[in-house]
Amino acid sequence: MIIIQKLWTAKIQFLKGVGPANAAKLAKLGIFTVGQLLEHYPRRYEDRSNHKLIAELTDGLYETFRALIINISELKSHRGLRIVKITVRDQSGVAQLTWFNQSYIKNKYKTGMEIIISGKVQRRLHSIEINKPDIELAADFNADAGQIIPVYPVMENIPQWQLRTLTRQAVEIFHTLPVSEAETLPQAILSGYNLINRQQALTAIHFPRNREMLAAARRRLVFEELYLLQCGLTYLKQKNKHKSQGIKHAPDGKLVTAIENKLPFTLTGDQQQTLQEIKADMEDITPMQRLLQGDVGSGKTVIATVALAKTVENGYQGALMAPTEILAEQHYHSLARLLAPHGIKLAVLTGKLTRKARDQLLCHIKEGGIDIVVGTHALIQADVEFKQLGLVVTDEQHRFGVQQRAQLEAKGGQPDVLVMTATPIPRTMALTVYGDLDVSVIRELPPGRQPIATYARASNRRDKVYAFAVEQMKAGRQIYVVCPLIEESDKVEAQSAIKIYDELSSTFFKDYNCGLLHGKMKPQEKDVIMSAFAGGEIKALIATTVIEVGVNVPNATVMIIEGADRFGLAQLHQLRGRVGRGEHKSYCILLSDSTNQETVERLRVMTEINDGFILAEKDLILRGPGQFFGTAQHGIPDLKIADIIRDTDILLEARRAAQQTVCTPEYLNRVWQTLLHWFGENFTMVFCR
Ligand code: ADP
Ligand code: MG
Repeated sequence: MIIIQKLWTAKIQFLKGVGPANAAKLAKLGIFTVGQLLEHYPRRYEDRSNHKLIAELTDGLYETFRALIINISELKSHRGLRIVKITVRDQSGVAQLTWFNQSYIKNKYKTGMEIIISGKVQRRLHSIEINKPDIELAADFNADAGQIIPVYPVMENIPQWQLRTLTRQAVEIFHTLPVSEAETLPQAILSGYNLINRQQALTAIHFPRNREMLAAARRRLVFEELYLLQCGLTYLKQKNKHKSQGIKHAPDGKLVTAIENKLPFTLTGDQQQTLQEIKADMEDITPMQRLLQGDVGSGKTVIATVALAKTVENGYQGALMAPTEILAEQHYHSLARLLAPHGIKLAVLTGKLTRKARDQLLCHIKEGGIDIVVGTHALIQADVEFKQLGLVVTDEQHRFGVQQRAQLEAKGGQPDVLVMTATPIPRTMALTVYGDLDVSVIRELPPGRQPIATYARASNRRDKVYAFAVEQMKAGRQIYVVCPLIEESDKVEAQSAIKIYDELSSTFFKDYNCGLLHGKMKPQEKDVIMSAFAGGEIKALIATTVIEVGVNVPNATVMIIEGADRFGLAQLHQLRGRVGRGEHKSYCILLSDSTNQETVERLRVMTEINDGFILAEKDLILRGPGQFFGTAQHGIPDLKIADIIRDTDILLEARRAAQQTVCTPEYLNRVWQTLLHWFGENFTMVFCR
């Protein structure tokens, strides 16, 4: 390990052929050391035995072929773009390669040169075009031994052949290490999971002798990355558990039993299971750290309600934190309905209390006169003190930063913590990101729910869509209209909502009472509108995404989403979840004129799938993990080689392996160093809390 550390940290100039100029170029790729070069994995491979002829290229596919340059030209488009065009030919036909604003290309190549071209093929009626392909001189290519050639993610100023030469040097140096010192995984894991050693793997990932070797190398490195990650998380979790003696709740007594017996419905199997898991955690001395995932409308609130009652039964206070005032109020009411009849005292703490009322309430909470406090961010302010906090529940956790959650948790000694989310996180993602939390899942919806009929429509059908909405209002139902998401600012978004509101309330909806809701309104104004909608006085609510989360108005049956193309799948699903909450058949209509293939696909998926978990998996595949939530915000580490969509099986294996190994402190320390080395600060921020 020590030698590996040295190799990892040996300056890249150590290699032959790297002077200051090349070092600077490599630095731009984030490569400063020999180790980083070794871990700069190929983006893909070229299989020389597998090149196609131009005539065989398939439209839309990423293909590689070899051809001769027969013409190079540069022209200027009417919009001032410089376009370089290279025409190439092989025995079967001709293809056109194009670059925009990359004039240097034309100086690098000459007619008569033989090149290897890789890129996405566009077949037109009379031509074959490839936009911005990767190209390389066939001569450089030939210099490499082997049939499968690595292609690295690079910038244009370092040629592939040079990266290959340098990497080969690095691999050779790496091979001079004793096998055991180059290794990062315990021997038992290697043999138990049938993995090749690290030296073999790092060699074969760059210079595979054949496809089988490549697959074995990739599997080993993916496993390694995920295994070390899981070890790190397991380690953190254990550390946290040892560190803290939490609250040991007693098994259910009279109060909890009475409340459960009085519930207005029977819990579904998943609800019961989840509740059991939560109770078991609460009855344990180590503090609960549990994530409760359940699709919109799956009935998470009632679970939280019983858990909160349990802490009260044990003489503690409970807190429920919601992301918006509207939602906090709503939770307060549903909790009060179930708990107040049993003598539990509840209060709601939001930003809109008067100073005096707030002071009074804080005093009450501090003295223990209040059993359960429901609130927004207002709950985490410094002056809020509890007498004895036993359980903290946060709803819709993706709206809260880790920081805020930690702040609330710090208000009690070591309260149990339950985090609820309605954004179903694919299992693979949950394992990677929330490896330190235990996860419970409610998959089953309460009985009798009908799927929400969903349609995607272009704006030339807008009249019909709104006519349908009017029909529903005539029948006594209520509707939502959501305005396009505008990223720039709340203000612009509000303006667009006002415009749509003005239009609808003077045309289609002129005979009905309409309400407007957007992010620029004061909390009190929003509340007035929301209560009027909940009470049925407002028939049509025109809103921005402020209504995305949690609102429950069972009489609302139509959700119209303007500019639906601006939303991601997860968000569309959340919005759709605002309807279909009562006995009436409900509809969701997605308005969009986008012809973008991916968008069309996303909207089509919405019309076919009602299950939030399946949608989330699709979303992950359509947009990639980085886009899924926004990497920075959620601190999902950028994995180096593992792909949590493709590599689920390896992830599960690695996780099992990590749970089964008993790691020595020295080994864990090494793991930790490696993780820091790989993921840096970003990683510690997310996982070390
Ligand atoms: P979410 O998981 O989105 O927070 P809620 O807790 O708001 O869902 O529940 C949605 C609706 O379903 C509520 O009106 C709730 O009373 C009802 N509900 C929850 N569980 C059941 C059940 N087991 N049977 C019937 N209705 C249920
Ligand atoms: Mg909810």
